[in-house]
Amino acid sequence: MRYRVCVADVFSAAHSIRSHDGVGRYIHGHDFRVRACARTDVLGAGNIAVDLKALEEALKDITGRLDHKYLNEVFGVEDLSAEYIAEYVLSELRKTVRSVFLVEVCSNEGRYCVEVSE
Ligand SMILES: [Zn+2]
Repeated sequence: MRYRVCVADVFSAAHSIRSHDGVGRYIHGHDFRVRACARTDVLGAGNIAVDLKALEEALKDITGRLDHKYLNEVFGVEDLSAEYIAEYVLSELRKTVRSVFLVEVCSNEGRYCVEVSE
């Protein structure tokens, strides 16, 4: 694809990965940085590849649902990983912006990042 357009947001939440051998099994929190990218081959009206405002609003809607929550409870899972968050955000975003193909979720001030793509 010729054009890739990305937006980013941050939300704060708690999680745990209970089957993890390390400290990740205990409830702890992060400021999760989320980046979502859409792609297209052609420019639309205004020579714009992707409506940035629509993409940004869609991402903020999703991160707003997760902000200041205990994510294991939100999703009803024992092991709530950054990969799980990325899959959820990608799936939810694609309901409104079909050209979204990649979501990255980072924790620990961006030192640990996971990426999921179509
Ligand atoms: Zn964590």
